[in-house]
Amino acid sequence: MLVVQNLNVFHGPIEAVHGISFTVKEGSCVSLLGPNGAGKTSTISAITGVAKSTGRIMFADEDISTLPVEIRIRKGIAVSPEGRRVFANLSVKENLRLGGAYNTANVDRLIAEWFETFPILAERRDQMAGTLSGGEQQMLAIARALMSEPRILLLDEPSLGLAPKIVTQIFEMIKRLKEKRMTILLVEQNATLALRLSDHAYLLNNGLIVADGTAETFGSNDALMAELTGLA
Ligand code: ATP
Repeated sequence: MLVVQNLNVFHGPIEAVHGISFTVKEGSCVSLLGPNGAGKTSTISAITGVAKSTGRIMFADEDISTLPVEIRIRKGIAVSPEGRRVFANLSVKENLRLGGAYNTANVDRLIAEWFETFPILAERRDQMAGTLSGGEQQMLAIARALMSEPRILLLDEPSLGLAPKIVTQIFEMIKRLKEKRMTILLVEQNATLALRLSDHAYLLNNGLIVADGTAETFGSNDALMAELTGLA
């Protein structure tokens, strides 16, 4: 579904990611793990076209490397950004409607579907998003991204700043999406939980992929696990 080859990502004169390559197969969950500043968010921004990059990004067998952001979104890429960023003064339902702005014919059906899948959002449907708890806002941000019926969901640090119990709930939500065969690229510092869900994971450091493999590959390498568990 997504093949990234030799990707360099730039913020003005700064090169944040140096020639990384990775693949996300249809229906799989792949994690990008790594410490602060490793280049995880920069990689997501390059995939959506927000950040300047060189290299090749293939999505559903098409080279999207030079396409504008809006076209990439329309082709089926959705992001739940780091820091959640819901529209605080709009209700849960209104936030979801905005997420489906390019997909108006299906908005009511999708809202009903996500309310059924994530009942906590249904309970809060008319509440202003700004008054939701951090975990609820995170759920809303993910559900809003899903309103475009994406072919791949990019999740940037969904556990950031949340209490451990809430983080578990968010990962349950991601697990349910995986069960629905959603293709997911998950950026996380919480390596233990991310590995549990991932079919494959890549460890980024200083803009380079320094290790990759399955949960078993990482689990059987004590030094790597010590490094990973130190991230969260
Ligand atoms: P974090 O979890 O802290 O966001 P990250 O792995 O997502 O970490 P990035 O945010 O991609 O890392 O940052 C990678 C490097 O690029 C860092 O050195 C960061 O300072 C730099 N960087 C990121 N965004 C910008 C920007 N807009 N302008 C300049 N430098 C940036």
